[in-house]
Amino acid sequence: MTKPFRADLHCHSTCSDGSMSPRELVFHAKAVGLSGLCITDHDTIAAYMTAIEAAKLAGILLGSGVEFSSVHEGISVHVLGYDVDLSSPALKELCDRHVMRRKKRNETIVKKLAEGGMPIDLVELEEGSAEGRPMGRPHIAQALLKKGYVKTFGEAFQKYIGDGRPFFDPGEPISTEETLAVIHEARGKAFIAHPHLMEGKNKVLRVLELPFDGLECFYSKCLPVQEKKWVEIAEEKGLLISGGSDFHGKMKQGIPLGSSWVDRETFEKIFEKNLCL
Ligand code: AMP
Ligand code: ZN
Ligand code: FE
Ligand code: FE
Repeated sequence: MTKPFRADLHCHSTCSDGSMSPRELVFHAKAVGLSGLCITDHDTIAAYMTAIEAAKLAGILLGSGVEFSSVHEGISVHVLGYDVDLSSPALKELCDRHVMRRKKRNETIVKKLAEGGMPIDLVELEEGSAEGRPMGRPHIAQALLKKGYVKTFGEAFQKYIGDGRPFFDPGEPISTEETLAVIHEARGKAFIAHPHLMEGKNKVLRVLELPFDGLECFYSKCLPVQEKKWVEIAEEKGLLISGGSDFHGKMKQGIPLGSSWVDRETFEKIFEKNLCL
């Protein structure tokens, strides 16, 4: 019997805040029985420098992707850019701007933490990362854990650096509208990621007034009843559907790769450029 086609379209590598290198991620995908994968690092496409060769070797389909942080009318919106042209100058420019945004933002958060009596070493934090990698709050959470300021990774977010917490800083916002324009210029398709995190259907509908192409309906942390609701909204609005685990490896425990996925038909509707030729 042939195994069913499953593709996980949301995961992170060491190029952003995942714990597996792009190559490890691709071979891990193969090992857990996936036939397709899309690596959606935060604000970077660097994973594709090595992931494409790995996917050819592993014999799995790879679609291009990225997850951009953006803001629309004060709402934080994570935008998945799928099937983007990896050589697009506009895409590169946006990724570069995000690296600068994160650098400044991390400095602000680290300064606030020091003033609050919890100094961590930003240099040490950055030295542990690949050059130009967009460091995020999970790296800061790890540093707080290492220093013993918190007992768990989650506690760092709940008490200190989660959205709206005392040491949180949003950084210079980049608009959702501009993000969509760049994804479209790169001939890609823009999806709202994990809409359930946007606190309410109305906010999602408001954001969907922008020219999105799809909605992430299947997600590791969602119940089937919640997923059904997002599928209905996508169908009503004529949007494409996507799904994935949001796997971060050891950086975020308890979310296995492949714990959310899409079938072949869905994969083929999204990815029209074959990276593995
Ligand atoms: P950043 O991109 O720097 O804003 O950090 C976002 C990352 O932090 C995402 O990968 C989230 O999964 C993770 N994150 C955000 N809020 C929490 C939370 N409350 N608990 C654990 N991880 C979180
Ligand atoms: Zn992440
Ligand atoms: Fe996200
Ligand atoms: Fe993600």
